[in-house]
Amino acid sequence: MDFSIHDEIALLADNFTHSYPHEIIAWARHRFGDGLVMATGFGPEGIVILHIVQQVAPGTQVFYLDTDLLFPETYELRDRLEAHFGIRFTRVATSISVSEQNEQIAPELWATQPDRCCRIRKVEPLRAFLKDKKAWITGIRRDQTAQRAHSRHIEWDKANGLVKINPLLDWTQEQVWTYIHLFELPYNILHTRGYPSIGCAPCTRPVMEGADPRSGRWVGHKKVECGIHLQEEK
Ligand code: SF4
Repeated sequence: MDFSIHDEIALLADNFTHSYPHEIIAWARHRFGDGLVMATGFGPEGIVILHIVQQVAPGTQVFYLDTDLLFPETYELRDRLEAHFGIRFTRVATSISVSEQNEQIAPELWATQPDRCCRIRKVEPLRAFLKDKKAWITGIRRDQTAQRAHSRHIEWDKANGLVKINPLLDWTQEQVWTYIHLFELPYNILHTRGYPSIGCAPCTRPVMEGADPRSGRWVGHKKVECGIHLQEEK
């Protein structure tokens, strides 16, 4: 009987439940080689993973989804991280500029149809980029959203057709920040100005201390995810 990638995932998902992120990432690099990539939105979780990747899986391609609508502080952080780690991020983006989107689809699409805007500027470029990859590492944590609560450390990404690895799944926000301060890693200055979760500038607001960290995202809409971590069948 053939032992498929799905059998392997089922076996490892249980084994990895109590593993350190270092072990999971080292295994992934060994298992998938250059077919392994890491995604980052330059949030604190991604910075922790980036630090671990440099130790146990150096050379792993790290990419970000550039919507052309990120905060100036986020682009500045991207540059600081490149200098800190001595790496270059791969930019993944749609071919439709923001002004073309405004003219050809709708002005400020994010205000009226944020799902469509995310699909154009994030979900579709991600899917195209991952098409020839074998596995991707993400920084999602279980307590961020209801959808993420059901994730596994290693799982099959049905939407994109490859293995998805979530090494920080059971970490708390506090653990993430402890790690960042312990290793004196760069982070987005907006985190000190009331933005615990940072996405595109038009869709991110500061939140009151103690509020749900993601409550500043897509304010006024029911939306809580951009769509890249939702699992519709491919
Ligand atoms: S987060 Fe907002 S601006 Fe960014 S792609 Fe989604 S809807 Fe568009």
